[in-house]
Amino acid sequence: MAILGCTGSIGVNTLRVIADHPARFRVVALVAGRNGRLLVEQALRFQPEVVAIQQESLAAEVRQALAGTNIRVLCGAAGVVEAASCSAAQMVVSAIVGAAGLLPTLAAIRAGKHVALANKECLVMAGPLFMAEVARQGVDLIPVDSEHSAIFQVLCNGQRQQPGGVLTLRGQDLGRLVLTASGGPFRGCSRSQLERVTPAMALSHPSWQMGHKISIDSATLMNKGLEVIEAFYLFGVAADRIQVVVHPESIVHSMVAYRDGSVLAQLGVPDMRTPIAVALSWPERIATTVPQLDLAQLGQLRFFPAPAAEDFPCLSLAYRALRQGGSATTVLNAANEVAVTAFLQERIGFLEIAHLIEWVMEHCPAVTAGQGSLEDIVQTDREARCQAEAWVARH
Ligand code: NDP
Repeated sequence: MAILGCTGSIGVNTLRVIADHPARFRVVALVAGRNGRLLVEQALRFQPEVVAIQQESLAAEVRQALAGTNIRVLCGAAGVVEAASCSAAQMVVSAIVGAAGLLPTLAAIRAGKHVALANKECLVMAGPLFMAEVARQGVDLIPVDSEHSAIFQVLCNGQRQQPGGVLTLRGQDLGRLVLTASGGPFRGCSRSQLERVTPAMALSHPSWQMGHKISIDSATLMNKGLEVIEAFYLFGVAADRIQVVVHPESIVHSMVAYRDGSVLAQLGVPDMRTPIAVALSWPERIATTVPQLDLAQLGQLRFFPAPAAEDFPCLSLAYRALRQGGSATTVLNAANEVAVTAFLQERIGFLEIAHLIEWVMEHCPAVTAGQGSLEDIVQTDREARCQAEAWVARH
């Protein structure tokens, strides 16, 4: 296994799953951003062939701490890409946050590695190119996101997916996909309450312990929007057949509705170690120490329609970008990343996140008919970030 983003929430949970199965998994590559201390701790414990730290100024410290071991230390963006593709790993866990995950994940796919995908931004930014590369290399692409893992488990039903990652839905008379959303920490809040939301309030998610970026995305419901786009590419289902329902208990992780009236769901307590274990071991299943679900003790599961677009516009912005096609989702992703960072730095307010994204989507000249090559995507991402930064500076 190679773990990209080993020091983050998904990375740490992946290593917890792996540590419970030492005879089954061996860690051969670890990749971190800036947390050199935790990277060194993990490297000493799991003894990979190679580690990479993105922040170059930390490389000397990591090298010194790992002196006397056989572990190769790489650094910088190029080192991250090399570590993602050079090791003997059969599978790469893609858990770097944001657009920074795209190039290393693509490098891993091009090196023939199977992918357990947590980084949804890869698909939002570059879905057609990413899926084409998965198909060309014939590697498995297994979702880690809990909603997509749920749908994957329903559709694959214990079988290995088609080589090339694309699930064959032929013969499955699919009506629609139903993505569940916890509703985030501000479910039911009015606009005037949302105006006063601070980063600390937005970071405290009711059901999941996650990194900062996805926590803010969950609070704005952009996370659900990114997941709609992710589902579109993973499962090849049109936008108007991907529905979102609010489910505050986060027990039903998502559902597949068939045209015969059947609805199949996957349930479990909200703990990312379950979808991670599914992705690492599919089509087999391995044990985890995640607590068993006790429905009788829980008592009730509630479901509500998705909130109004006036209150949580990010979800409809994501649908709009998906319907628009071309590079619109690349622009959406870039503007969102800038907006989330600016909000966390208290440079813009909570409601301005959606204003900024909408403005960039409408004004970025980079919104073109086709997504184009990888170079085009990187260029679009850069232009949209510049526009978004300029918006923040003006406000
Ligand atoms: P975190 O912020 O907790 O972790 C992000 C990881 O990415 C860290 O290891 C960080 O390193 C690393 N990183 C950041 N930038 C770079 C870079 N330029 N190069 C190399 N490494 C980098 O995020 P999460 O674990 O919460 O989320 C990771 C991904 O998984 C996201 O795409 C998210 O949407 C997705 N996801 C997360 C879920 C969750 O429950 N957390 C659920 C479903 C999907 P360092 O800490 O060393 O700086």
